[in-house]
Amino acid sequence: MFETLKTRPADSILALMQMYKDDPRPSKIDLGVGVYKDATGLTPIMRAVKAAEHQLWEAQDTKVYTGLAGDPGFSDAMIQLVLGDAVPRDKVAAVATPGGTGAVRQAFELIRMARPEARVFVSDPTWPNHLSILSYLGMEAVNYRYFDEDTRAVDFEGMIADIKGAKAGDVVLLHGCCHNPTGANLNLAQWQAVVDVLLETGAVPMIDIAYQGFGDGLEEDAGPTRLVASSVPECLIAASCSKNFGIYRERTGLLIAVSQNSEARKLHQDTLAFLNRQNFSFPPDHGARLVTMILNDAALKADWMAELEEVRGSMLSLRSQLAGELQRLSGSDRFGFLAEHRGMFSRLGASPEKVVEMRETHGIYMVGDSRMNIAGLNAETVPVLAKAIIDAGV
Ligand code: PMP
Repeated sequence: MFETLKTRPADSILALMQMYKDDPRPSKIDLGVGVYKDATGLTPIMRAVKAAEHQLWEAQDTKVYTGLAGDPGFSDAMIQLVLGDAVPRDKVAAVATPGGTGAVRQAFELIRMARPEARVFVSDPTWPNHLSILSYLGMEAVNYRYFDEDTRAVDFEGMIADIKGAKAGDVVLLHGCCHNPTGANLNLAQWQAVVDVLLETGAVPMIDIAYQGFGDGLEEDAGPTRLVASSVPECLIAASCSKNFGIYRERTGLLIAVSQNSEARKLHQDTLAFLNRQNFSFPPDHGARLVTMILNDAALKADWMAELEEVRGSMLSLRSQLAGELQRLSGSDRFGFLAEHRGMFSRLGASPEKVVEMRETHGIYMVGDSRMNIAGLNAETVPVLAKAIIDAGV
């Protein structure tokens, strides 16, 4: 029976990783896959995670199932991290999910269940998984303009004009911070304008926040999500712990639904638990438990925050080194956007041909749309990349 299955095109980022592995040149530079790397190219286990794991190993005496929504302590800790006190707790439903991807998937399923005809407005470009999951679920995605190819900043006017096309019963998907793949983000005044459009149209926002702490700081990065959640009657938030806790493979995420009132909250909570039950029953617990331990222990939390600040600072420093080197080589400010972008990624704005040229000539591996993982650089490779960019005539 399975002969009807079709082979699928290889994931372009995974294919790029393989090409990088197969490249014998020692000078090659990997700016592809979206994981944080330190200056030595390692994705370390964070100190607080290691310490929590040690404590857990000593103290944990059962691996029995948790609840369908995961451990309520995890939801509480994460709701506090993401929303702070922006929304009364009796309006907030939440379930643990396998990573941020699991939260995105469950959010889309919830939308489809409530309103099968809902359209989901997505930034152009967005994280490719948004589009592929929507298409897999048979849901309609509508692009809104987001990235200005000339300034490499947000095309704010285009974005506002396009999201005005959303209606009550549609969803507008927004990246809470550190936009993937472009690195270009709205300022708070622009977020307020987006909120005004949402209130005007009645469209429901869904916020994907996968990089809290990677942009301007933990609190700052949560600001837009808090603004939206406290301004609109209903919203969904998909949060990932993969990057800011460095626990990629533990599959740790949370789906939050902010409801109109406590009665609606109960309906949301029951439905989210039902969706977990249908898809995988109990969500993974190990990563969630580590996160809970860290967020509820003053010393572990302080150490985690300090290390996260080191991570954030190192990416900001690489950004300014690269922008500075490019300014020196090009004699112009046209690469200044690299220092303005936030998070792990920047879209350079090079054509696919130039991306191939930089790979073949200089061994630089960036994604085909010229998304670069800034964390893939270090002080030695910044000048090599800058020279390749100038040589390719970007
Ligand atoms: N959303 C966005 C925008 C992302 O970039 C990612 C990670 N690549 C995720 C969600 C989900 O990540 P994970 O499932 O690994 O937690």
